[in-house]
Amino acid sequence: MSDCLFCEIVAGDIPATKVHETGTTFAFRDINPQAKVHVLVVPKTHHEDAAELAAADPRLLADVIAAGAAVAKAEGMDGSGFRFVLNTGEDAGRTVFHAHLHVLGGEPLGTFGRPTG
Ligand code: AMP
Ligand code: ZN
Repeated sequence: MSDCLFCEIVAGDIPATKVHETGTTFAFRDINPQAKVHVLVVPKTHHEDAAELAAADPRLLADVIAAGAAVAKAEGMDGSGFRFVLNTGEDAGRTVFHAHLHVLGGEPLGTFGRPTG
């Protein structure tokens, strides 16, 4: 889709640090990491968010989750643990409207939910 940041990254039109790729998914390092390891996994085709993706193409959502697990293993986090995050909508602070899975870890993670402070 034109004017979609993550479609442009998948197409190679905007640079990103690729960490994993399958026929249907692309994974790259988050530009503003929230943990020692912070990777984004996206479907190569454009879907608005995880719920829309689940309704439109559940196998592709499963591909995204499996790719996230492969990233966690490749980053050495399968033993120590990691976190998958799928933000949806304003309250979650969503900023990019192409479905993406955050894979976070590489160190003990903080609590999540209500804002801190
Ligand atoms: P969300 O808030 O769930 O929509 O997450 C969007 C994520 O995309 C944020 O964690 C951003 O840091 C990340 N991001 C934005 N632009 C880029 C980029 N050019 N390359 C890598 N990650 C990006
Ligand atoms: Zn897109």
